[in-house]
Amino acid sequence: MAKNAPYAWMNGKLVPWEQATMHIATECVLRGENVFEGERAYWSEAEQELFIFRHAEHIERLRQGARIMRMTVPYSDAEIEEACISLIKACGYRGPVHFRPVVYFDQGELTDYLPSEIKTGMFILAFSKPSTKSIETGVSTCVSTWRRNSDLASPSRIKSGANYHNSRLAYIDARLNGYQVPILLNAAGKVAEGPGACFMMVRKGKVITPPVTADILESITRETLIEAIQAELGIEVIEREIDRTELYVCDEAFFCGSGHEVTPVNSVDHYDVGEGKPGALTRRIQKLYFDIVSGAVPRYRHWLTPIYGNAARKT
Ligand code: PMP
Repeated sequence: MAKNAPYAWMNGKLVPWEQATMHIATECVLRGENVFEGERAYWSEAEQELFIFRHAEHIERLRQGARIMRMTVPYSDAEIEEACISLIKACGYRGPVHFRPVVYFDQGELTDYLPSEIKTGMFILAFSKPSTKSIETGVSTCVSTWRRNSDLASPSRIKSGANYHNSRLAYIDARLNGYQVPILLNAAGKVAEGPGACFMMVRKGKVITPPVTADILESITRETLIEAIQAELGIEVIEREIDRTELYVCDEAFFCGSGHEVTPVNSVDHYDVGEGKPGALTRRIQKLYFDIVSGAVPRYRHWLTPIYGNAARKT
């Protein structure tokens, strides 16, 4: 579990961790009515700088989710960026950071108000969070009996707190059955994604990932890898539906996401993926990803936002 941070940012102010509280009558507390982002910042020892990865794209997605929810984001992009930077600086992090900007519905009634009439607020949490051990070891997975949220019910495209009820059910079930991470199918029975990351597999030398219409979150890591795998490794990435049984015959597989980074999948439903350990191409993709996020690949430097100002901004 992530440790408490010294500060949080809440509705325009940096506040000590203990004071970052919210009333129990808000829609956010009662119904999980929020839209949020999970972003990472990476420390570059060489440049003595902390870089946020693809911040603009995260905020664009936050706004997209808020739009679908007809929710007003109460701050401008510049104000949100400044808030994220000020919080991370105040916490004094000089290592990997995971942070969450969250826009929420305040007090209201589900039945009485148009969503646009319900006040919204915003808070940001930032944690010191190194990569998980699973990056090295890989994970065992199963196909969950729970289906991914459908676009016509609780759209997976929106990164809303309420959607993670679905992820939690799938996680708990997988863990009770002895697996580490579930893979969720969508209502059509095709592979959607993991509970907190997108899914990619390798078959016959090509990387394959479900399309954005498969009831997945429009992942920024997925988009990053689709571009970088083709441009830097010269390997084709195909966006298409994936059948359940393809999981049992693929050569390699991995989850990708800001939090999970590139996490190898060792097995699905007790079928070994490849040799039952992280595959060679997955390892190359991991390396490429970590090189990009840490600023080592000049071509992708425009995706990095420096926090402390030790490196030139958006070089
Ligand atoms: N799917 C779900 C359900 C997620 O929670 C996440 C993590 N935000 C992802 C995919 C990956 O998205 P991203 O690469 O933008 O972090």
